Amino acid sequence: MKFTPEIYSIPDIPMTPFIDIDEIWNLLHKTISTPEKVRSIISKSLSKQRLNLEEVAVLINANEPELIQEIKEGAKTLKKNIYGNRIVLFAPLYVGSKCANNCTYCGFRASNKDAVRKTLDDQEIISEVEALEDNGQKRLILVYGEHAHYSPDYIAHTVKVAYNVRKGNGEIRRININAAPMEIDGFKIVKEAGIGTYQIFQETYHREAYKTYHLSGKKSDFDYRLTSLDRAQEAGLDDVGIGALFGLYDWRFEVMSLVRHTNHLEACYNVGPHTISFPRIKDASSLNFGDKYFVSDDDFTKLIAILRLAVPYTGMILTAREPEVLRNEIIQYGVSQIDGGTKIELGSYSKNNEKKNLNKGQFKINDDRSLNEIIDELLDQEMIPSFCTSCYRRGRTGEHFMEFSVPGFIKRFCTPNAILTMAEYIMDYAPESTAIKGWKAIEKNIETLDDNSIKKSVLEKIEKIKKGERDLYY
Ligand code: SAM
Ligand code: SF4
Repeated sequence: MKFTPEIYSIPDIPMTPFIDIDEIWNLLHKTISTPEKVRSIISKSLSKQRLNLEEVAVLINANEPELIQEIKEGAKTLKKNIYGNRIVLFAPLYVGSKCANNCTYCGFRASNKDAVRKTLDDQEIISEVEALEDNGQKRLILVYGEHAHYSPDYIAHTVKVAYNVRKGNGEIRRININAAPMEIDGFKIVKEAGIGTYQIFQETYHREAYKTYHLSGKKSDFDYRLTSLDRAQEAGLDDVGIGALFGLYDWRFEVMSLVRHTNHLEACYNVGPHTISFPRIKDASSLNFGDKYFVSDDDFTKLIAILRLAVPYTGMILTAREPEVLRNEIIQYGVSQIDGGTKIELGSYSKNNEKKNLNKGQFKINDDRSLNEIIDELLDQEMIPSFCTSCYRRGRTGEHFMEFSVPGFIKRFCTPNAILTMAEYIMDYAPESTAIKGWKAIEKNIETLDDNSIKKSVLEKIEKIKKGERDLYY
């Protein structure tokens, strides 16, 4: 029986699980990677076609260094062809660290007596958002533990509080959330509050492994979590992000499952996830975690390149969990969004010079660069940092979010919007050295716009930004 949203809404008909452990392992075991096969799969992806599960398994099974290099080069080319040279920037804002679950890998787990629990009150949210705006941030992801306190109404309230903060020319134009799974009505409430993406990670897609890490609390229900994005779709929330926590189970299985989950959403709702995340386990408060499924830097880089080739049109997020050097390298293989100036101890954006404290956050951050330092380095690498929030605000989301599949989309929307948000950043927040580099990058990027009317319009808007107008976008 094919699962459809209509069937799912009838409570006594159980949903057919879409992750079949045997199917995935069989594919991984039976596919053989030859150089010819790998090359033809890379060319298929470069022609902007989605890969099927068997093709993903072929890439995963390619172990010769030369073939891995070809996969990475393929991902690099695809990223350039589809996403151009822009990188979207955002910051996480942790709102509450109370949690009723016991996920063994997480500092917020209920049994962790060393964790310092905190929930920001409205004034604290305002102070945090003001500090983030002062740095130039325009896009946030609000993050919550899983606790009765953090109901959909509460989450909606905090989202509205954050959207209302205006400091100088600062404002937050897009708020995504990472929060516990909800019922359909709950999703409707947070959608109504104006969230961008609802993000949730399955952690591991392996049902048996999942049980060993999720010891108690609602999150121990594998299926409830796995079906959360189906409920989100039913609530009309079609902008969703998926992810797996690498280090809980075999990375090859998780990559296959992320693609399978994408297929499921596309097949049932005509729209895949907006983003895929691939956090790797990092140290956390009082953590004593085994390394049986540890993912090496080499495998991590390879798996990101494979995901890029597998789902050419899906955004990919690389967070400050990873250190600077690795982030700078991996960014080339298909990442479209990164966080900058990240602080995850609750309430720490507004407190300058507060020391990092593992007991106050969920896990350890390994890239401590400020937002401006990251922008500087992106500019040095000839990338254009972007704070664009236009698609979401123009309603180009979900099924209608054809971003990269529409010919000329990048040149018509993404590059101009990246240029305009960068111009705003330079005018309002950048130190002189960044401003010099930034204007040069803007000039260079304007030259790449081959439609003269767009060029002219971007130049006019930049003049308006220089005179003080803000929030101009396509
Ligand atoms: N309470 C929410 C939940 O469980 O979905 C929010 C969790 S948190 C912001 C987002 C993600 O951080 C989790 O889903 C998990 O994948 C990841 N995470 C948890 N512990 C981690 C650790 N020690 N290192 C790296 N990432 C971790
Ligand atoms: Fe709670 Fe989320 Fe941490 Fe699990 S991962 S203990 S649900 S905050």
